[in-house]
Amino acid sequence: MRWTKTHLTQLQKHLSAAYPEARCALDHGDPFQLVVATILSAQCTDARVNLTTPALFARYPDAPALAQAEPAELETLIHATGFFRNKARNLIGLGQALMAKHDGQVPSDPKALGALPGVGQKTANVVLANAFGVPALAVDTHIFRVARRLGLSAAHTPEKVEADLCRLFPRTVWIELHHQLIWHGRRTCDARKPACRECPVAELCPTGRGENNDPHTGQPVLPAQPGTGKSSAQPLPGRSGGPQRIVSLVPSVTELLANWGLVQRMVGRTKYCVEPKWIRSAVPALGGTKDPDISGIVAQRPDLVILEKDENTREAAEALQAAGIPIYVLEIRSVVDTKRALLELGQLLGMPDQAQAQAKAIKSLGKKAQHRAPRTLILVWRAPWIAAGVDTYVADLARQAGFEPIGTEGYPRLSDSELEALQPEVILLPTDPFRFTARHRIELEKQFPKATVQIVDGKAMTWMLSRTDEGLCVLRELRKTIG
Ligand code: SF4
Repeated sequence: MRWTKTHLTQLQKHLSAAYPEARCALDHGDPFQLVVATILSAQCTDARVNLTTPALFARYPDAPALAQAEPAELETLIHATGFFRNKARNLIGLGQALMAKHDGQVPSDPKALGALPGVGQKTANVVLANAFGVPALAVDTHIFRVARRLGLSAAHTPEKVEADLCRLFPRTVWIELHHQLIWHGRRTCDARKPACRECPVAELCPTGRGENNDPHTGQPVLPAQPGTGKSSAQPLPGRSGGPQRIVSLVPSVTELLANWGLVQRMVGRTKYCVEPKWIRSAVPALGGTKDPDISGIVAQRPDLVILEKDENTREAAEALQAAGIPIYVLEIRSVVDTKRALLELGQLLGMPDQAQAQAKAIKSLGKKAQHRAPRTLILVWRAPWIAAGVDTYVADLARQAGFEPIGTEGYPRLSDSELEALQPEVILLPTDPFRFTARHRIELEKQFPKATVQIVDGKAMTWMLSRTDEGLCVLRELRKTIG
């Protein structure tokens, strides 16, 4: 259907009548609170953000307080919203930028707003519209899906859909339309089973009328449940048996799913998901960990894609979300994180007993050794040397096994002189992802004649979840050997 002015007016009228209460779902009292809440809402539900922000705003009520926040304390307060380290970094940067450039106030100028740490175009549009009443139309995953189903846009990126919507509708309705489309996406036009029979705009929708396949799934729309007055959305994954069409973009998670006997529920993996070996012929590879084949994944119509924050990219997570694919993003930086993730995955996939047994085994292995821990450098790459920083999963695995990881956070590149300045007593060389060999060990032994240099099974050391228990055993044995 070609959208005429009359049809567009009808659409607005129906949406206004169906969702008269539609408004911003993030609780906030001023522009500062809204920009903070919107940053926290990335990869998180608005409901969870609203549970988090009361304590956060009580502790950091304004930009001066946020600018001086202690990262660890802030991370604890926002932990439940996910990606808490990045978000904490952005929030402190936001407070500092507001103090340095805007007298502690949130600017209403789109350019200045968009230049603040953690504030992209979507966040800027949300804040402009809801805090300052500036017409803007931020396209989130719901608007992206609904606009394409309604045939308002055929574009494949949120930015282009936004441009199409802004061209079709007058500026005066952008703010209310933004909220109405989100409410419609949440309440009726569900990603997996749109409730077309209950839909207030069905008569205007080419997808609901069966003229087009659903651009979201490539299939005709699935039949809705009549007469409920509610969306016919499926229960959340994890309830009633859990997801049945899973894609794993994390090699160790793929191995874990195979160990749990869930391969028949997998419809995709990355080309690096190669354990157990037979999985290569059982489950199709859909790109790599950093460059997954998004259209290939969408074509599989998964009901869950599992990612890990360091292994996979934020772009991949956003592209999948924009396509309406349910995702589950792990963030594993410690042995404790693996136990939590195992239990959550167990719940999500309907395997709580297996998950609990594995978490218990890890707990029993993770007791710290009593004697002094040697200063330990863990290298994960050569040319340049790259170390696993003190806040990484492998560092914590070593810590739990009685080593003292040294260095900075993240995965820093190190020159020879920077390596020497760290004065390691032990250097560990895991064989994955870089294939360290005896040649590298000899090279380092010459450079550090007093240090113990040891090659370690890389998969045991770096494959979290499926091999955390194995990694702890290997490192504890090594620690005993070193004395
Ligand atoms: S008719 Fe169906 S596909 Fe179209 S907007 Fe309504 S719920 Fe969505």
